Amino acid sequence: MATEAAADDASDAPDAYDALLDRVRRWNAVGSAAGVLGWDQQVMMPEGGTPARSRQLSTLSSVRHEMITDAETGELLDRLADADLSDERAAVVREVSREYERADAVPRELVEEISEASTEALQAWEAAKAEDDFDRFAPHLERHVELKREYAEHIDPDRDPYAVLFEEYEPCLSMERTEAILEELRATLVPLIDAIRESDADLAVDTFEGQFPEDDQEALARDALDLVGYDFDRGRLDVSSHPFTSGNQFDCRITTRFDESDPLGAIGSTIHEYGHAQYALGLPKEQFGTPLGDDRDLSVHESQSRLWENHVGRSRAFWERFLPVFQERFPETADATVEDAYEAVNQVYEDNLIRVEADELTYHLHIVVRFEIERDLVRGDLAVEDVPEVWNDKYEEYLGIRPDTDSEGCLQDIHWSHGNFGYFPTYSLGSVMAAQLYAAAESEIDDLDAKTADGEFDDLQEWLAANVHRHGSRYETNELVERATGEGLSADAFTDYVEEKYGELYGI
Ligand code: ZN
Repeated sequence: MATEAAADDASDAPDAYDALLDRVRRWNAVGSAAGVLGWDQQVMMPEGGTPARSRQLSTLSSVRHEMITDAETGELLDRLADADLSDERAAVVREVSREYERADAVPRELVEEISEASTEALQAWEAAKAEDDFDRFAPHLERHVELKREYAEHIDPDRDPYAVLFEEYEPCLSMERTEAILEELRATLVPLIDAIRESDADLAVDTFEGQFPEDDQEALARDALDLVGYDFDRGRLDVSSHPFTSGNQFDCRITTRFDESDPLGAIGSTIHEYGHAQYALGLPKEQFGTPLGDDRDLSVHESQSRLWENHVGRSRAFWERFLPVFQERFPETADATVEDAYEAVNQVYEDNLIRVEADELTYHLHIVVRFEIERDLVRGDLAVEDVPEVWNDKYEEYLGIRPDTDSEGCLQDIHWSHGNFGYFPTYSLGSVMAAQLYAAAESEIDDLDAKTADGEFDDLQEWLAANVHRHGSRYETNELVERATGEGLSADAFTDYVEEKYGELYGI
């Protein structure tokens, strides 16, 4: 009897697989349509459009959730559970099962309750930040912690709730590996930043001081995108208050923002978003709407943006090629040398309290503080009322600076007002992965640096496409990294890179 059932399942598998794939493509089409509406909301929509747009987006989100959790999805997955599938198909079933199980485990009412709590928390956070009044936000943070613990319990009551929440963003990277990486970043960066503070190196930090009109900066951002090879036939550059990337392999758009006193900021953020877009544009077209044509996760996405922003955009070689372009747009900087530009884009802001204004190095200690606090909150090892003091103590211990206000301290980021616990670590994981991927690309591509200095990016593009982009979600994160670099994800390449680079810059 059992054998007959198994034989039935096997012969039935191709139909079940096609039916499942059809469903997946449909719910992902709903998701990507919501993405376009989200892009429009942040880039084009007049302010008055909010009530209609909120309704449209929440309806699409419910429709998508119903499609995923429909009984037929579960039945198809059951039929495929023991089927003999090719590696590719098995990867698709693995990814869809994970999505289905998580969506199915959490009651719809709880999801809606979290969404409503977020709307209220967001308003309270905005007011609390403006008035430097943590007590106003505290009850909302408390509620988010409770709701998210409940959320995690529905998914798996037997595991660390923070690890379960982290999987929302990083579905297949272990908490053990993540904690080990962040611990290593802390151990390396705290003494390095301390040494930089003590160093008497005199970097050319005021080379690009002045006023740089937004129009010229936009033209320069387009020059930079042309140089690195952004395909404007499949993309756009617009302005938004927070730079972001949105789209897929056929149409992936980026945004940036301009500060007239800081032309380097816009270059960095434009190249960063370009890296995200290249990843999406490099996903296989024929797999659109399936896990094989979808990005792996946030850390892999962030590895692509940070590889371009830091390893290319902050290199001497890049500025050899790009400084003349810059000087053509801004002739007043004609005296600047490549070395000046290199020092200016790599200066360490050792007294900065704000994460989004941090440099490549101190950034990760901002992340470590948030990670340790949110992990302890969710695990029940830290009370909400103690967050401001613990935050300030950690800033003092890791960065040698102490915020005077909570607005510049634990109220600075929006993430916790959405209840997004587990998101912050993905930023640092992305940088660590970027360093590891870039080191591997450097060892496999002849004269990569010289090619960058010539504005030749084809080899790097091809390497990233072949080793990362074209796989979509076929491999789990660590396997993807291992296949690309020969080793599992670790902080080693990143710590080597920063110790060498900043040791040389600051003479330590
Ligand atoms: Zn990013």
